[in-house]
Amino acid sequence: MVELADGDRTPRSLGEVETVVDGGDMDCGSGLLLLITRAMRRLEPGQVLGVRSAEVSVVSDLPAWAGLVGHDVVAEVAESDGGPWWFAVSKAGRSAQSAARSATVFSQGERTPVGRRLWIYTNFDCNLACAYCCAESSPRAAARRFEPAVADAVFEEFTAQGGREVFLTGGEPFMHPELGSLVAAAGGLERTVLTNAMIFARGSRRKTLEDLDRDVVLQVSLDSATPELHDRQRGTGSWSRAFEGIELARSLGFRVRVAATLYDEDPEGVEALHRRLDELGIASPDRVVRPVAQEGFADQGVHVSLENLEPEPTLTADGAWWHPVAVTNPHLRIADAPLPLAEVFGVVRDTLAVQDAAARTGREVFRCA
Ligand code: SF4
Repeated sequence: MVELADGDRTPRSLGEVETVVDGGDMDCGSGLLLLITRAMRRLEPGQVLGVRSAEVSVVSDLPAWAGLVGHDVVAEVAESDGGPWWFAVSKAGRSAQSAARSATVFSQGERTPVGRRLWIYTNFDCNLACAYCCAESSPRAAARRFEPAVADAVFEEFTAQGGREVFLTGGEPFMHPELGSLVAAAGGLERTVLTNAMIFARGSRRKTLEDLDRDVVLQVSLDSATPELHDRQRGTGSWSRAFEGIELARSLGFRVRVAATLYDEDPEGVEALHRRLDELGIASPDRVVRPVAQEGFADQGVHVSLENLEPEPTLTADGAWWHPVAVTNPHLRIADAPLPLAEVFGVVRDTLAVQDAAARTGREVFRCA
């Protein structure tokens, strides 16, 4: 057994550390990389980060990560045979890290450059409670509303640093009483509001809809050409109301994009959906078919992690996340507040730099869970 120091409980042989990250049993691919990237950004060059992990892969992966970024592992200690393991990592000078960043982040063929696109969860309450909801939204979910004043500051910073596209999602965004203000705050950007299209036909929500600029795109969930599958996944009667909502939005002059979420890509079902959308006049680029992610309420679907999700920085009222499907996954949390945006994008860029550097060397720093 190693001797632990008083107070912070780090091993004495680790030496002086500025701050400590306890990764539990996470490996680099399941979230440890984000934790240490966030912590490293708060240190000055030469300061030392202590990292603890009970996951055996860190014995090879953590020194590999440090080498890719230019940090030095100055001490390595096992609490006992078989771990957990402790590392003391001295932060690299700025030049080493920024060289890694600039060499990688903007050189990806298909990847959306970090900082161009932003997702906002306007709220988490919803009129539905879909069994596959990655956000764990429902009528009983805490609203966690995004404040218009925060949105003003977010979009000002986003626009100033070259942002182009904003996606506003939830929960059901039309349950946010100030949705109109949130959308207006993003004026000048390409704006898409994701909705189930079920609750904006009447009352104050109808007025919110009618008052939206017509360059706002509405992305509506519709899982199937006929009610059976959609209603099974999203609730009885939801298909008809979504369909009516699509027709209403189009009659008011909105461009409507349709998104289907499916456990299995049944080719016949998808083909039937396309035929239905042909009848409706929804253009091919405005159709999205995507798999269920095994996140939130979904107990099956595609497993997602840092290693198989391209980043789509996402803000909630109380934090920032790697991707909108992962806002209930603590391993994919980027920050504990939506601002400053520079910090959110900075964590993403630093993390991508390591992933890309690892890919170039052919080394698997990020293991499959
Ligand atoms: S999947 Fe969409 S419509 Fe269904 S509960 Fe979640 S947020 Fe609401």
